[in-house]
Amino acid sequence: MINVAKPNLPPLDKYVELLKGIWDRNWLTNNGPLVNELELRLKEYLDVKHLLLLSNGTVAIQLALKALGLTTGEVITTPFSFVATTSSIVWEGLTPVFADIDPHTLNISPAAIESKITADTVAILATHVYGNPCDIEAIEQIARKHQLKVIYDAAHCFGSKYNNRSVFDYGDISTTSFHATKVFHTIEGGAVFTQSAELLKTLAYMRNFGYDGPEDFACVGINAKNSEFHAAMGLLILDQADANLEERIKISERYDQKLKGLNVQHVRIQSGATFNYAYYPVIFQDEAALLKAVKMLNDNWIYPRRYFYPSLSKLRYVQPHECPVSEDISRRVLCLPLYTGIKDVEVDLICRLLLRAQNN
Ligand SMILES: *Cc1c(COP(=O)(O)O)cnc(C)c1O
Repeated sequence: MINVAKPNLPPLDKYVELLKGIWDRNWLTNNGPLVNELELRLKEYLDVKHLLLLSNGTVAIQLALKALGLTTGEVITTPFSFVATTSSIVWEGLTPVFADIDPHTLNISPAAIESKITADTVAILATHVYGNPCDIEAIEQIARKHQLKVIYDAAHCFGSKYNNRSVFDYGDISTTSFHATKVFHTIEGGAVFTQSAELLKTLAYMRNFGYDGPEDFACVGINAKNSEFHAAMGLLILDQADANLEERIKISERYDQKLKGLNVQHVRIQSGATFNYAYYPVIFQDEAALLKAVKMLNDNWIYPRRYFYPSLSKLRYVQPHECPVSEDISRRVLCLPLYTGIKDVEVDLICRLLLRAQNN
């Protein structure tokens, strides 16, 4: 069986080695030494100013909205993302307003954002889809002009850059996920990034119940901490990060080469951006061609995924919005298996099956 993604695992003996330290210290969670070490090493690796490790990427978005004081109003967001981008807005009592996507980069369109701004708009929540950065310059210009907060859901973006800086450096707050299926992971996990020392402080309080000493609570908070066990995994996965990225580039290039005869469109990488090869999406001519390809692969125990389908503008708990580009693309886009350890023969088989489905 070949799935769309497969979690990286470090050598077991190395993990056991770190577990022994946890046993010796008997310090399991609550900002322990491994969590601290991982935060420092990630800051260095990513070359970012501030970062807080969290329990997952969904709570990261929720904390970002809370820390920016957004409690009511409209948040302009993308219909083409994982459901957590939208559900977090609704969960926080805010109203998602969908701005359609660019048909080439599949990221939220700055022009569409501008057309959705009303007196009730408080923020923009954009996803860098597949690790391909948004048109950040254009979004920042709009945000400045209309005094809106900007949050980037950068869940796919480990290693992506924009204008030679980590993409996590952008926005009032940037969030990410370290879930097992992502490029870098801590089993479950996530992080928030900000340039502002003040916001960082608020986020740090909020991550830990607002705790400010055993008998004092600075603000309303939640439990968004992560544990020593998760940090231990992250430390070992970080050791493999460079090799992982290089392998992803090679696999993606192999797909590019072997799929030359396939009638699909590829995602356009944003200018100024460096892509991290987090996914290998292909956009078919129509949904029928996609379904034919999926069936051919499934019949051979290969399971690509329809990231992202359906368009979030169709969720049953949001106000209906017309987003024709997102609705069209979400019906036609498929992410092919891409993970470290996938064999050349497996990639070649996938490519042959896709071509066979097309030419049958
Ligand atoms: C994975 C993902 C999330 C959620 O992260 P979790 O760590 O699973 O909570 C949010 N947004 C996007 C775009 C994602 O891909």
